[in-house]
Amino acid sequence: MTTDDLAPELTRDRGKTLRAPVILDLLEEELGPDAVIALDFTSRWELLVATMLSAQSTDVKVNEVTKVLFAELPGPEAFAEAPVERIEELIGSLGLFRQKAKNVQATARQLLERHGGEVPNTMPELLALPGVARKTANVVLSNGFGMHEGVVVDTHVHRLARRLRLTKADDPVRIERDLMRLYPREQWLQVSDMLIHHGRRTCFARRPACERCVIEHLCPSSQEAGLTDKR
Ligand code: SF4
Repeated sequence: MTTDDLAPELTRDRGKTLRAPVILDLLEEELGPDAVIALDFTSRWELLVATMLSAQSTDVKVNEVTKVLFAELPGPEAFAEAPVERIEELIGSLGLFRQKAKNVQATARQLLERHGGEVPNTMPELLALPGVARKTANVVLSNGFGMHEGVVVDTHVHRLARRLRLTKADDPVRIERDLMRLYPREQWLQVSDMLIHHGRRTCFARRPACERCVIEHLCPSSQEAGLTDKR
């Protein structure tokens, strides 16, 4: 059965289990194969650092910063040895730059001490790194290793999963758990990629463009006036 066969039968009133796969199919059709991670990186180390820097900053801004940052500090050894003040200067245009500088340097040192300078590929090892939570670990595992241990829940995934009633939770860990139950493991990366890009292009935090949304007929929030979720 194709998406075209299914879509007319489904409405926003149907259960999330029925709507979830069609939502993903329609977003993939609309957004295409370019709807992937927007951070620039050439190694797992750069992916890890870029993701750590992306909290409360746009990917465009992070890419501007990392272009200069990675040219001057090309790997964990350079980050470990640099004065933290220099890292702060290099990332100073990003939010929370002092805490981020401290965390990326501590992470570089931990990688050198415990992992031979390589980014580890298990969730517990990644979560043991300073400043690394499940969102960053999931980004690194899925985009850096092709391993799907969870769903990336950033601000867009959080907002859209709730608007689409794919979850009732408000806590990122519970939202991730609900999405993991709704979608098969091999789709977990696509789920986050599609929701992130749909959130950037259409389902804005303020004034979502419901009138041109391809999943409007499947969205219980489409008729709600005055959506003002600031996430
Ligand atoms: S219908 Fe509106 S609120 Fe629902 S997913 Fe589309 S843009 Fe977002």
